[in-house]
Amino acid sequence: MVPAPGAAAVIAPHLDDASLSCGALLSRWVQDGTRVTSVTVFDGPPPQPVPVAAARFHAECGLGDDAMTVRAAEDDRAMARLGVRTVRFGLREALYRVTDDGQPRYPVRDRLFATPVTEEPELVVGVAARLAGCAEFAAADVVLAPLGIGGHIDHLVVGAAVRVARDAGRETWWYEDIPYVTYRDCADWTALVGGLVPVVAVIRVDTVGPVLSTTTENAAGKVELPTTSLAATV
Ligand SMILES: [Zn+2]
Repeated sequence: MVPAPGAAAVIAPHLDDASLSCGALLSRWVQDGTRVTSVTVFDGPPPQPVPVAAARFHAECGLGDDAMTVRAAEDDRAMARLGVRTVRFGLREALYRVTDDGQPRYPVRDRLFATPVTEEPELVVGVAARLAGCAEFAAADVVLAPLGIGGHIDHLVVGAAVRVARDAGRETWWYEDIPYVTYRDCADWTALVGGLVPVVAVIRVDTVGPVLSTTTENAAGKVELPTTSLAATV
């Protein structure tokens, strides 16, 4: 068992990643006296008009174009329940990003998972700069960062930005990205993450699966956190 750090920051690409991938660990650290902050990078509102792929995804989730407001409220409740503070950068997630001429950068969902991080170098630099200027990031003894399992471009960007922004000697714990790590087509995920090793890992996929089903069904705001499904391993 690793002693709880004095301060920790979990860097979450989206508003559900901290609770889904690290909820149990965060809860335990808070109970042990750690000052824990969730830093969510991509929680900004969509552009107007809302890109077609984003609107379609909202509808699939049972949400409208105020999806980010609903998700933020959901995250507020989750983090309050865990006792975790929140910082949000307000940047646009991939489905909301547009090119310089106003076209959706990701017009179809499949591209979210098939784009190398090298295609968004300015975004990596921008997120790294935001992290470097974030007091909670600077004060953290341990930084939790996504491995990028599943290849979602936002998760890859955040992982790359953490590598740029962290100073030498800062402890970084890489966490397995839920839900992607539970997907069969992500079984060979190690090839995606450049030799990084997970520190925060799913210990029972058969437990996480049903919990995720429940969370998906209740995406409108009645989420039960999978706080008993994860463990920190070193
Ligand atoms: Zn995510």
